[in-house]
Amino acid sequence: MFKLRFWGVRGSVPSPGKETNFFGGNTTCISIENKNTFLIIDAGTGIRNINFYLNERKVKKIYIIFTHYHWDHLQGLPFFAPIFNSDIKIEIFGKKNVSEVLSLQMKQPYFPADYKNLPSKIEHKNLQKSFNIDDIFIETIENNHPSGCVGLKFSYKNKKIAFITDNELLDYGENITTKKEFSDFIKDSEIFVHDAQYTVKEIKSKRGWGHSTYDDVMEIAKIGGNKKVIFTHHDPMRRDKELKEILVDLKNRYPKFNLKAAKEGMEIKFDI
Ligand SMILES: [Zn+2]
Ligand SMILES: [Zn+2]
Repeated sequence: MFKLRFWGVRGSVPSPGKETNFFGGNTTCISIENKNTFLIIDAGTGIRNINFYLNERKVKKIYIIFTHYHWDHLQGLPFFAPIFNSDIKIEIFGKKNVSEVLSLQMKQPYFPADYKNLPSKIEHKNLQKSFNIDDIFIETIENNHPSGCVGLKFSYKNKKIAFITDNELLDYGENITTKKEFSDFIKDSEIFVHDAQYTVKEIKSKRGWGHSTYDDVMEIAKIGGNKKVIFTHHDPMRRDKELKEILVDLKNRYPKFNLKAAKEGMEIKFDI
């Protein structure tokens, strides 16, 4: 078994309400798991609900990988019950000094509990270009995003899942990763998940914010030959109705692809 599940699919800020309920209002969080290993990627507000699932599976060791440290990717961590459980071991991977960054949001006067005194056994590790967590192999790529972010690819047995959030697909400027480099990175992935916060019209006033359009994503999926594409990091102002219409339009324009918008609770599972 190799499984991807979406727990939070919203970008920038939580956006609960009847207009966003279908896809969900929690900020970015996914899990990748196989029989023995449970990985969480980003700790947006979607992470809270993983607690129930971990209890059912009796998971005692959790790995959390941070793509970067914008609020919408770490604001759920203080409310993730396992960090207060002394029976749980957590290994946290991130760039720069992940321990220092996380302790900044969990201390007085921002939060009553101090990150450095949490009951769970937390270990911090520096995110490498490629590494293994048990038998899941992980590769990273540098995204185009203010303050940086990493795209990830998870391999287990013969299946690969690419997850690239908070990335602006560009072919100009300095020190950027090009569309060609991204398409090379994703080309052998069965599932390709990418940030699609904006439409072509919207992005005109939002260039340099570090996000992409649906059409940008389709451009690299075409080059990479990826047939299963999942759009995520939905704009907080994007209503369900509008997102469904965008998806219908994309399916008409790209009939050879299997296109989805990430939704809370959505699972993709390989029986391997
Ligand atoms: Zn974000
Ligand atoms: Zn970001």
